[in-house]
Amino acid sequence: MKLPRELSEWLSRRRRFREEWDFHREMAISEFEALGLSRTEATRLAERRLGSYFAHRRSALRQLRAQITDLLDVLPWCRIRSSALLVPAVVLLTLAAIVLPNPHRLEVLANTGSLVPFLPNRHVDRFVPLTPSNLVPMAFPDVMLWGLTLIGLARVAATPKFRRQWRIWAFTAATLVPLVVLSAALWTTALPLLMKDRWHSDALQGLALVTFCFAYSGWAFLVFKVWYRDLLSRCPICLRRLGMAELRGNSADLLIAPLERETICLYGHGVNLESHWSQTFEVDRSTKWPA
Ligand SMILES: [Zn+2]
Repeated sequence: MKLPRELSEWLSRRRRFREEWDFHREMAISEFEALGLSRTEATRLAERRLGSYFAHRRSALRQLRAQITDLLDVLPWCRIRSSALLVPAVVLLTLAAIVLPNPHRLEVLANTGSLVPFLPNRHVDRFVPLTPSNLVPMAFPDVMLWGLTLIGLARVAATPKFRRQWRIWAFTAATLVPLVVLSAALWTTALPLLMKDRWHSDALQGLALVTFCFAYSGWAFLVFKVWYRDLLSRCPICLRRLGMAELRGNSADLLIAPLERETICLYGHGVNLESHWSQTFEVDRSTKWPA
């Protein structure tokens, strides 16, 4: 079976240390043998001169990027991870995994749909018997998700490197809409589990509801934070992940030489520079891609 090119390169980088080590060991042994020492004595002295095999191997593999952890970057996963389709696909699959096994899936979707303003209320029977309308109360996720969506859109609009980049706006829409639907579906799936029946202790049920609201808020903030970080780590032209990160400057310095992180689009669309002060993307004008 033919191995993928990246995997065979990784294996040959790992073999390279062994070959070089054997070469230098043999050279050192022959040097000592030339001085009239026995093979055993020459080997012992050569090993003392070269030092620890494992320490050298560890540092060599790190420099050659041939450690086990580097294997993650050469597997097909790396190509999937850099694809712009991965985020919407994962979100939609998670949404399907939450909604489809639920016997009340139609009610969940109808409640989720009520997040869209100005839509007429749809009649859903006895979904959550403990609430006055038998429906899942949607005011909390409504305010939270709309608030986070507007903040997310404002941040994208305020990021200079995303200006006039229609692909970033298309990607924003393609990820933000499924994320909001997923978050709302999560609320309409989880809340009925807590409110379907009356618990023996009202205080315990109330505490569970308050805890759920806090956990849901934390989760929503975290999801939007990760979403924005993912957006910043992409090339605004081809939407693939930027790579070959290089750190410059000093983290203690804010004005003279602030810490800067330079990454490039591996497909030649430009150079990304992020620091405490700004996020810029210098488009490579020599490529045929539009800015
Ligand atoms: Zn690119």
